[in-house]
Amino acid sequence: MTAPSSTTTNVIGWRCRQCDLPAKSGALHIGHQQVRAAERAAKDWDAQHPADEAFDLADVFMMPSRAQWQVTCDGCLQRRHDCGGCYEIGLNQVPTFTALLRWQAHLYDKSWFNVTNWVAFVHRLAQEHAPHESAGAW
Ligand SMILES: [Zn+2]
Ligand SMILES: [Zn+2]
Repeated sequence: MTAPSSTTTNVIGWRCRQCDLPAKSGALHIGHQQVRAAERAAKDWDAQHPADEAFDLADVFMMPSRAQWQVTCDGCLQRRHDCGGCYEIGLNQVPTFTALLRWQAHLYDKSWFNVTNWVAFVHRLAQEHAPHESAGAW
C-alpha cells in the first residue's frame, strides 16, 4: 500500500493573477475599498430583502458581487499595485493548505469575511491543485 502524497499536495503553487506566472513571493490581498463597497451593497440588499420574505429568481442575479481576493507576485506589485490600501497576507505566510486553513480561521472573525469571495477562491485553488479529488456536486 502506498501512502497518499499528502505532503506534495499540501504545498500551494501560487500563481500571479496579473502575469499568470508562478509567484514565489508576493501577496494574497483584498482592497479595503472593494470590501467597503461590498459591505454597503450587502447592507442595501438586506434592507430591500427581509429574511422572512421570499424573493424571486430574477433577484438572485442582482445580488451584490463580493470583494475579490487577488494573488499578485512581487514584480507585479512593484509595477502596479492599485488597491489604494488593502488587507494583505504575504504568500510566504501561506505556503501550504494547512497554513491557509489557519488564516481562514483567523479571517472568519473579521466582520467583512462574508462579503469576500473566499469560499469560491479556496474552492478554485483546491480544484487547480487536486482536480482528481471531488467534493461532491459543484
Ligand atoms: Zn505577476
Ligand atoms: Zn493590494
